[in-house]
Amino acid sequence: MQHLGISTSHSSPHLIFICQWPCILSLKMLRLCLFPLLLLPCTLAVNFAWENIQLDPSESLIYPAIRFADPSPSRPTPPCKTIPGDLDWPSEEEWVRFNDTLGGVLLKPRPLAAVCYAGSAYDGEKCDEVTRGWGSTKLQYFRRPNIDHVPMGVGKRLCTHIRPKLDLHTRWLAVNFARNMKIRLVVKTSGHDPNGKSIGGYSLSIWTYSLRSLTYFPTYTSISPSYSGQAVALGAGIRAADGSVAMSQYNFTMSIAGGSTVGLSGGYMQGGGHSIYTSYFGLIADHVLSIQAVLANGDFVTLDGETGKDLFWAFRGGGGGTFGVITSMVVKVFPRTSIASSSITFSTLPSRDSITGLSVETFWAGVKAYFGYCIAICDAGGIGYNFIRHATSGNNTGLTFTTSISLPNYTRQESQSFTRPLLVSLSNLGIPVTVPPAQRLANHDTQ
Ligand SMILES: Cc1cc2nc3c(=O)[nH]c(=O)nc-3n(C[C@H](O)[C@H](O)[C@H](O)COP(=O)(O)OP(=O)(O)OC[C@H]3O[C@@H](n4cnc5c(N)ncnc54)[C@H](O)[C@@H]3O)c2cc1C
Repeated sequence: MQHLGISTSHSSPHLIFICQWPCILSLKMLRLCLFPLLLLPCTLAVNFAWENIQLDPSESLIYPAIRFADPSPSRPTPPCKTIPGDLDWPSEEEWVRFNDTLGGVLLKPRPLAAVCYAGSAYDGEKCDEVTRGWGSTKLQYFRRPNIDHVPMGVGKRLCTHIRPKLDLHTRWLAVNFARNMKIRLVVKTSGHDPNGKSIGGYSLSIWTYSLRSLTYFPTYTSISPSYSGQAVALGAGIRAADGSVAMSQYNFTMSIAGGSTVGLSGGYMQGGGHSIYTSYFGLIADHVLSIQAVLANGDFVTLDGETGKDLFWAFRGGGGGTFGVITSMVVKVFPRTSIASSSITFSTLPSRDSITGLSVETFWAGVKAYFGYCIAICDAGGIGYNFIRHATSGNNTGLTFTTSISLPNYTRQESQSFTRPLLVSLSNLGIPVTVPPAQRLANHDTQ
């Protein structure tokens, strides 16, 4: 077992407490599990040291706002979440107490766009600056807690963040507090969700970004799913870029997103998670061996093909933020697999290959020919990543098609032979394309 030098939080060994019968472990059972002679039914697998810092039910005796859910199934669900101004919205004193319980990690970041709205935060000059830079990664990322990638309108809303702190206790407290106080709870890793699902008006937000622990296992054995081979344990904050570093360091290949800042255990895996290896190795959701998560009732669970198998199935594709807060997961990885990649471009605008540019009809015939070839690309274990864009050249506007065809385990020559029939079809349509020589990438390099 080896650790990647990303954070200082990953020095724990892989701990597995196994009592007689497997089941989902709740904290209430944790202390009982520590007495194996009692042969109580429980399984606890902890990937990282910070997952050992768990919430003790006795803490809620002195602070009921963080109590676990009432297990009674007849408990009515409140119809609406509370918002500031409601009678039951926590008082300032309550927030202070909650923050103290958390060890002072609560943040109340001001939305980036607040400077554009009437009120004490309004600042015309800063608003112009924010408006100009809204699409820029620099602006969004240097102000991390505010990242939202959604229209500025939501800037009006308030969101209170649980600042990253490297233990499970914090997340646990947040889930219980939000449930008991009827506050909207959102989970965020990178904030990339295009529909803004990782932010929420008047919400308590768990920000997993700095749970960036990663452990590499040269040989990992899992009973269900049945597997023996290389694997990695990923903390909830591990991003595609961290995955890339680990792949180089330990010489393996795994499914990671093309965007370097995408959180692998967050929306990526929970949405399926495709990569340039998808036709070859499958989606990352297919590679998950176990998941650690805090559920809405406050239970901390380990899920796999046997233990909590319905939830294990649901988490792997059911969408981020739906079934609980993932704290870490173990995924299988593969022997290092090179990729041969080549790109094709054609346009209705003049280019090196066509002085006049293609007619619109020829352009779309070319797009159709490409899509016709996609089945062959997938059958070859590859992937075609294409864009159709409006483009300009001088005073002319037009359409440009670009695709990058990536073929795992192909040599450059094999890749060139593979794309030749497509080039012939395009050429027969009157689309002359020069394909730059195929590049051979050592592994999946993130954009
Ligand atoms: C530049 C870019 C490139 C991309 N490339 C790819 C790609 O190659 N392949 C691909 O499949 N997708 C890709 N995506 C899409 C990306 O996978 C999704 O947007 C994904 O939802 C991002 O997940 P996140 O956790 O980083 O983002 P967030 O916005 O933080 O979260 C997304 C959703 O997951 C939930 N969530 C986050 N963390 C957790 C957690 N620990 N537990 C439970 N729920 C959680 C959030 O509540 C939210 O609902 C790309 C996106 C971008 C912006």
